[in-house]
Amino acid sequence: MQIIESAEEYDVCIVGSGAGGGMAAHELTKAGANVLMLEAGGWFDSEDFAMFNWPYESPRRGGPTRRQPFGEFDACFGGWDIEGEPYTTTEGTEFDWFRGRMLGGRTNHWGRISLRFGPDDFRARSKDGMGDDWPISYQDVKPYYDRLDRLIGIFGTNEGIPNAPGGIYMDPPEPRCYEHLIKDACDDMDIPCIPSRLSILTEPHNGRAACHYCGQCNRSCSTHSNFSSPSVLLPPALETGNLEIINNAMVREVTYEDGKATGVSYVNKENGKEYKVKSKVVVLAASACESARLLLNSKSSDFPNGLANSSGVVGKYLMDSTGTSVMGLIPDLMNMPAHNEDGTGGMHLYIPWWKDNSNLDFARGYHVELWGGRGMPSYGFMGGIQNYNDLFQDGPKRSGGYGKELKDDYRCYYGSMVGFSGRGESIAYEDNYCEIDPDMVDEWGIPVLRFNYNWSDQEYKQVKHMQETFRNIIDEMGGEAMGDMPSKEDGYGITNPGQIIHEVGTTRMGDDPKKSVLNEYCQAHDVDNLFVTDGGSFVSQPHKNPTWTIMALSMRASEYIVDQMEKRNL
Ligand SMILES: Cc1cc2nc3c(=O)[nH]c(=O)nc-3n(C[C@H](O)[C@H](O)[C@H](O)COP(=O)(O)OP(=O)(O)OC[C@H]3O[C@@H](n4cnc5c(N)ncnc54)[C@H](O)[C@@H]3O)c2cc1C
Ligand code: SF4
Repeated sequence: MQIIESAEEYDVCIVGSGAGGGMAAHELTKAGANVLMLEAGGWFDSEDFAMFNWPYESPRRGGPTRRQPFGEFDACFGGWDIEGEPYTTTEGTEFDWFRGRMLGGRTNHWGRISLRFGPDDFRARSKDGMGDDWPISYQDVKPYYDRLDRLIGIFGTNEGIPNAPGGIYMDPPEPRCYEHLIKDACDDMDIPCIPSRLSILTEPHNGRAACHYCGQCNRSCSTHSNFSSPSVLLPPALETGNLEIINNAMVREVTYEDGKATGVSYVNKENGKEYKVKSKVVVLAASACESARLLLNSKSSDFPNGLANSSGVVGKYLMDSTGTSVMGLIPDLMNMPAHNEDGTGGMHLYIPWWKDNSNLDFARGYHVELWGGRGMPSYGFMGGIQNYNDLFQDGPKRSGGYGKELKDDYRCYYGSMVGFSGRGESIAYEDNYCEIDPDMVDEWGIPVLRFNYNWSDQEYKQVKHMQETFRNIIDEMGGEAMGDMPSKEDGYGITNPGQIIHEVGTTRMGDDPKKSVLNEYCQAHDVDNLFVTDGGSFVSQPHKNPTWTIMALSMRASEYIVDQMEKRNL
């Protein structure tokens, strides 16, 4: 096989252009480093995307395709099932792996829920004896959260909740009608319901326009009013003249010689040719499981079990958030007159964790994401009105049929549903892992991942609590929950591992090189010029969505790389 080697040696080679890679590129190029970024997906610019298309403009009405599983107007190229890129699971276990394949990865269509971890999240083992503590504290990460808030822009409110620390926020948008009703019910039940914290601009910021409330954030944003790596991080990095991006470059492995990473090898997906590039530092930010895969596939006589894996920990302690949802019909919201529900493409209120675990039968907590209202109708709108008759046997109105009656039914129910989705903390277990499948390779001959993941009793009990709580809130609102409470045999409706798309933890940080892969700066214990700046470094996965912390840690690691390069330690 012919391998095309480039003569140039870059200061840093970054694999992946999403949250972790985009932030590293931003920080390193600003500091003057000469950076090469390799991205397995194609180029993407949200200004060219279908932000303002009506569903009727497409024969598919915006319905999903294999390449765009959330619909053809959704700014997500990738998904659970990517052609030519399979993965497997061990018998009897489940894991669903969602991957983005485009410049910016999954930051183009994520929910922008941007929560800081709290002080207790970094020392959870000290409090309840489960999992492990992080080698760093909230105070170590706080300055980077502050810098992120200022750089990117985020709305929210400072509520003084100790383990849900506030930040440097723009004013939040007004709650919508259904959100007011949820909040009223929560107030009566002593459940906090507060403005959400989303990285969406409610005022102009750093040359980007304020959100104009079109509600289509999942389509990315052609005015760059929400956060994505190609909207916010990559343009200023490119402007420095220090960043080169190669798209459609599927990295195969990290190359290594005499104790140092020397660069990476990759396949050009367009011409199928193999390339090698050299760099003084390698930063993996291909997403937690993909970075573990790269390390496990990079074998040498020094590291027969994969690069930087003398501990045997690479791929282990994989975590995803727990999740379950309940939807309810609220009669007060039926037959609503037309009214203005404009807003961002995300929730304007959310429920932070509010309980004391000493009174509960499970550890850690969850937050609640709220949904409802009158989104733009498109493919699969309201799931077929005739089905409402079965869902609500004694429902307020029989529905289905033809013509005017059918239209009236849709008008009656449109916007009358509210939904609650719990996102909870799972415990890090060594037995939840990804490894290389010895029998399968992808389209380019690269060995694929095999997952092994099981929920424990703790996660099932937590999700039972979510289900009961959501049903109680719907009750308090005078509504009716859709579907019966799921049984223990049905796992109380818990989602499959991986489905919440918060997978982290496969290259965990720690002080002990025998029990962890990275140190507190996301630097490999075994190979000092190798860093992992995606969610791989997480020691625990608090219920807060991970991306704000991925970026804060990537910023911190990048600052450390610059410092070490200046001292000629790398
Ligand atoms: C629908 C959805 C909603 C979400 N909502 C939220 C939310 O509200 N809040 C939150 O915190 N998180 C959310 N997330 C999760 C969030 O998107 C991820 O946590 C975040 O994007 C992870 O960043 P990353 O840099 O690790 O990976 P990614 O953003 O996925 O970027 C990784 C990049 O690496 C590239 N890559 C992979 N392998 C290779 C290779 N071998 N060679 C070269 N390039 C490679 C990929 O193509 C990709 O572009 C959501 C995700 C989805 C899908
Ligand atoms: S709701 Fe705001 S941030 Fe979202 S796509 Fe529309 S303008 Fe952009």
